[in-house]
Amino acid sequence: MKRTLPVQKNEYIDVIFEDLTHDGAGVAKVEGYPIFVPNGLPGEKAQIKVIKANKGYGFGRLIELYEKSPYRVEIPREELHKYGGCQLEHISYEGQLKYKENQVRQVLTRIGKLEDVVVHPILGMDNPWHYRNKAQVPVGDKDGKLIAGFFKPRTHEIVNTDESLIQIPEINEAVQVVKEICTRFHIPAYNEETHKGVLRHIMARFGQQTGELMVVLVTRSLEIPNREQLVEEIVARLPQVKSIIHNVNSKRTNVILGDKTKVLWGSEVIYDYIGDVRFAISALSFYQVNPVQTKVLYDKALEYASLSGSESVIDAYCGIGTISLFLAQKARKVFGVEIVPEAIEDARKNAALNGIENAEFEAGEAEVVIPKWYEEGNKADVLVVDPPRKGCDEALLHTIIDMKPKKVVYVSCNPATLARDLRILEDGGYKTVEVQPVDMFPHTTHVECVALIELK
Ligand code: SAH
Repeated sequence: MKRTLPVQKNEYIDVIFEDLTHDGAGVAKVEGYPIFVPNGLPGEKAQIKVIKANKGYGFGRLIELYEKSPYRVEIPREELHKYGGCQLEHISYEGQLKYKENQVRQVLTRIGKLEDVVVHPILGMDNPWHYRNKAQVPVGDKDGKLIAGFFKPRTHEIVNTDESLIQIPEINEAVQVVKEICTRFHIPAYNEETHKGVLRHIMARFGQQTGELMVVLVTRSLEIPNREQLVEEIVARLPQVKSIIHNVNSKRTNVILGDKTKVLWGSEVIYDYIGDVRFAISALSFYQVNPVQTKVLYDKALEYASLSGSESVIDAYCGIGTISLFLAQKARKVFGVEIVPEAIEDARKNAALNGIENAEFEAGEAEVVIPKWYEEGNKADVLVVDPPRKGCDEALLHTIIDMKPKKVVYVSCNPATLARDLRILEDGGYKTVEVQPVDMFPHTTHVECVALIELK
């Protein structure tokens, strides 16, 4: 039997938005049938046009707003909208925080079936603009002129911009200055279609605590024309620059960086601090992009671990050892595990840089290495996990349940997989004590959480 849908394609209808999807579109319901409409906000009355009507859900376009949400704001600079994936720029910061906090609560109840879990008010930024310490800007050519900015959503067309509202001013300045200098010295832009030209991306990284700047020129070619004058000019114009790197990426690929890097001027790394821990950052290394909120997040993780100095701690998915080194200052011993071998190299270097001797690192999959450690008799009092979006591997969760650390601190960048994993731990004898959402990426839909889980 073919059921007819409550709406038809191309139909114009009036709706009230009830919710937002995880990527920031408004959700309206017609007889229970959900329609996703970009730019619609909860509580708003609008006319929409149905663009697509699938079996279980449809898509629409906003035609006219009859009643606006009190959280709707003018997009600060229309042409910058969606730059760096700022899907929530049409919502006031207060509204964004409310939305993210609600999302965490809803998902924990719906997916995790955690009815009475304590979710604290989200920790947002005092100033939610100009927070990113890194930019990777694609370079192109328009009518013979070098342009750099961002890809228009869902296209390969580059939009030229002179700033981003979410990047640290020093980063914006660095990109602008390098763009100007490269134009002046006639550095040809890379062309994706013909796979010809030179400059693919301008990248900049900034250590906010140290004021050290790194500039990376990513090119297709092995050589950069006028290289010496170029470098001289960059050094003269950007007094904070400590490192100028040449990265060669000669492949036809969307991946930004190639494997080959060469120092053109200055040092190979810049430094930054999170709290008292010093980190060396190279062109290729992973480093958190919002240092202010990273500190907030790690302080919370440390508070939840409540270390007295006698504990053995495992930090799973440790990256370059950021959380491990934070914990090592308060624990007897920390063991970090991470799948990317280069990140583990960085973690060891960072431990040495800080004179931290009670942290050990191993490269491998957390779900393989931790069961191995457990078999060898290495049990943790506290276990910290900070997995990628897909959450923890189930095998790891079962090892935790067998190992029975007193506390698990779960740092998560995806509430849905956090909720799923908390349910598994709850069924295995753990209790979720509290969850603290932290806004690491204002104006985007991302939300980070730290959860404290204790053995029942
Ligand atoms: N804790 C770090 C990084 C967290 S990001 C920090 O705060 O900076 C998640 C990390 O998990 C990435 O570095 C990724 O390389 C790593 N990873 C992904 N799958 C993994 C697995 N199966 N085992 C171990 N590490 C993994």
